[in-house]
Amino acid sequence: EGYRHTMKDILKSEKLHGVCYEIRGPVMEQASRMEEEGHRILKLNIGNPAPFGFNAPDEIIQDVIHNLAEAQGYVESKGLFAARKAIMQECQTLGIEGVDIDDIYLGNGVSELISMATQALLNTGDELLLPMPNYPLWTAATNLTGANPVLYRCDEQAGWLPDIDDIKSKITPRTRGIVVINPNNPTGAVYPRDLLEQIVEVARQNDLVIFADEIYSKILYDDAEFVPMGRLAKDVLCLSFNGLSKSYRLAGFRSGWMVVSGAKQRAKGFLEGMEILASMRLCGNVPAMFAVQTALGGYQSIQDLVLPGGRLRQQRDLAHRMLNEIPGVSCVKPEGAIYLFPRLHLDQHKIRDDEQLVLDFLREEKILLVQGTAFHWDAPDHLRIVFLPRADELSHSIERLGAFLERYSA
Ligand code: PLP
Repeated sequence: EGYRHTMKDILKSEKLHGVCYEIRGPVMEQASRMEEEGHRILKLNIGNPAPFGFNAPDEIIQDVIHNLAEAQGYVESKGLFAARKAIMQECQTLGIEGVDIDDIYLGNGVSELISMATQALLNTGDELLLPMPNYPLWTAATNLTGANPVLYRCDEQAGWLPDIDDIKSKITPRTRGIVVINPNNPTGAVYPRDLLEQIVEVARQNDLVIFADEIYSKILYDDAEFVPMGRLAKDVLCLSFNGLSKSYRLAGFRSGWMVVSGAKQRAKGFLEGMEILASMRLCGNVPAMFAVQTALGGYQSIQDLVLPGGRLRQQRDLAHRMLNEIPGVSCVKPEGAIYLFPRLHLDQHKIRDDEQLVLDFLREEKILLVQGTAFHWDAPDHLRIVFLPRADELSHSIERLGAFLERYSA
């Protein structure tokens, strides 16, 4: 007596409708089930450098170990002073003007700061411009705030550069900001200065906040030049995101930062929101903050991987060449980051559901990719491939993909 007799299902909150991080979605669940059955799955789905033998510089690990005893307590919500100082100096070197210690927030990876910044800015019904294709965390974080992601097109024919006219055509009175991912995940495009300047001009004219996700800023190939958004956006509010996960191969440390620059004077309300959210989670992971100063100072060992002869560069070249050799497949050459986003020409490959294609490839070949629609691409004709595995595994995977596509479309 006194108990309710019908026990109701316990549901997720309504806020979570439409919130999904597709890279770790159903396809990954299927891969985990297969692993439990004893299969070895080759994972070309997640940009996680360490498991592929890309170790962080030993100096960083040693420094963290050395400082572990010092890292027992909470620190300020924005993070350890010395780490923020090192980031501030990096901003000076990058030509991002007027950045103070207090303009820098450290967090548990860029991911946490993306959630905080979108929560701090957006109201229900607001709109945030995001690239298509895009790294799906941005869409998920935007949906979680109750705002609507509005996708602007990146043009594959133009090396995946954002289509500035499409951006302009999608601005409404509810548009609050624009997300620019440069170098880009999933396409590997690196944006030229004049295009970035045009985006800043659009932001200026429409009073938009710029979210610059620059986590791949140091993973550049050939002659690609990275231009930090914060250098160009002096009179609009610019939030720049970066961290240790990729350039320093420390994804598991969960260490990232956000830099506020430009129109800070007009952003007092938003920044108050950031401080509220930062203080609600007390502070980020302190041991990892001890890695920041060492990482940013001194020799940048990522260079050894991206220059000619470097492992990442060789793997990119190999994967790019092999993909383009598959009949009915074409792939723009990535100039940055660690991904390829090849196109499967639908006149030659009969594909209606790219998630099913990825599931079938996984089942038959034990190789895990991500379907293009997971990045909110609007046709089932792309895949994302991480080129972190060693050359032999990469070439094996792409050979298997070629053979699979031939069977699939026969
Ligand atoms: N932004 C982009 C474009 C990414 O590709 C990733 C990770 O893959 C992140 C942010 C998240 O990085 P973090 O490990 O700092 O949370």
